[in-house]
Amino acid sequence: MRYISTRGGAAPRDFTEVLLAGLAEDGGLFVPESWPHFVAADWRALRGLPYAELAARVMRPFVGDSIPFATLQALCRDAYAGFGHAAVAPLVQVDSNLWAQELFHGPTLAFKDMAMQLLGRLFDHVLTEQGKRVTIVGATSGDTGSAAIEACAGRERVNIVILHPHNRTSEVQRRQMTTVLAPNVSNVALEGTFDDCQDMVKALFADAPFRTEMQLSAVNSINWARVAAQIPYYVASALALGAPDREVSFAVPTGNFGNVLAAWAARRMGLPIKTLVIGSNRNNILSRFLSTNDMSMVPVEPSLSPSMDIQVSSNFERLLFELLEHDGAATAALMARFRAEGRMPVPDVAWTRATSLFRGFTLDDPGTLTEIARLHRESGYLADPHSSIGLAAGRHFSEPGVPMVAMATAHPAKFPDAMEQATGQRPPLPPRLADLYDRPESFSICPPDIAAVQAKVRALAFRNIAQRNAR
Ligand SMILES: *Cc1c(COP(=O)(O)O)cnc(C)c1O
Repeated sequence: MRYISTRGGAAPRDFTEVLLAGLAEDGGLFVPESWPHFVAADWRALRGLPYAELAARVMRPFVGDSIPFATLQALCRDAYAGFGHAAVAPLVQVDSNLWAQELFHGPTLAFKDMAMQLLGRLFDHVLTEQGKRVTIVGATSGDTGSAAIEACAGRERVNIVILHPHNRTSEVQRRQMTTVLAPNVSNVALEGTFDDCQDMVKALFADAPFRTEMQLSAVNSINWARVAAQIPYYVASALALGAPDREVSFAVPTGNFGNVLAAWAARRMGLPIKTLVIGSNRNNILSRFLSTNDMSMVPVEPSLSPSMDIQVSSNFERLLFELLEHDGAATAALMARFRAEGRMPVPDVAWTRATSLFRGFTLDDPGTLTEIARLHRESGYLADPHSSIGLAAGRHFSEPGVPMVAMATAHPAKFPDAMEQATGQRPPLPPRLADLYDRPESFSICPPDIAAVQAKVRALAFRNIAQRNAR
């Protein structure tokens, strides 16, 4: 399997190259040169497999020859062994034709773990093979940072430095990062906003000598391997509900478009998916695009579902490339206009194609609280604000005879205030996280000064070298 850039200006790469590179050198995103196709018998052969085994078999064509299949199987087994539910991504029925697929049983209680737990292990494996080390640097406003830290903690070949805005994350979010005390993890609380953190990460990458010295790398949501690792759970739930012998629909609470892109990829591989619903909060650039072909940036407004508070969905470029029939030059031109003018004039034929692939659904904060209360009242189910948007979206587009599965992307205990407002209950953290508030923390507070942050990154690398030499 080879990968090409959505902007048409990069040499084809294999899976491991795409994994380590993240972004293509022409600024585009990597996509498969051609899509694998599973026929009905191939899908049926996956029925009833343990999740890790199913994941390895679904990802196999994307990984190709670049990692031996037995290794991929072992990495998947290891990645999902730490989940708090034996089914890894269980289905819960909440209405006669509506299911929640729980993607939050990983270490940080949110769906990012589904891909990140595997990604950390893939990085370690590939870097060991190549005799390399990297330092992953990232900025977080909360959830992504903890998933990345949990994925990299204790890995041999990877150091990770995550910047968060000092005193501007929730306590649960901070503690999920700062209580991971592995020697290869460093948390920096930057005295500034989330935007300052992002600017700092950009500045670190822009400093070419430093980037080379530290072998800087990223694990952001545009990494193809993350998308690939999100395909298997769609396969698992579709098979459980009757595919390939009947169609299934999905509703996905969406931010950067990574999760729902994976659902689209599953359909592209031949999984019989009828309707794909994109659920948004008030920051609904994608729903607006689907209803009126208006792809324009507006300022982000905070909501009860912060992981969906986005201005631009970074993975949308992969869909755009598909809508434009793999025309890299046209994709590059539209992305350039989007960046320059804040608005993307998508040709009508491409937009019409998009509307045949996806349905859009928007739910504001009051609607989200109403849905949380309804699910609790009618089914005794506690769905967090993100999951509730997915479930409301699924409910809206549900049709008789076609099971509708909504992705439940965060554990309700991560959003106790919204849950209490809607249901009167504060859901407890699961037992393995119950002592989160008693665990010791480690982080350093740093001014928004590049030399100071670079010193932290170097200190982590040297600390690690010293510890390795001592062994
Ligand atoms: C990241 C995230 C989302 C959005 O997923 P995308 O892949 O960015 O669309 C939704 N819900 C939760 C809880 C998340 O952490």
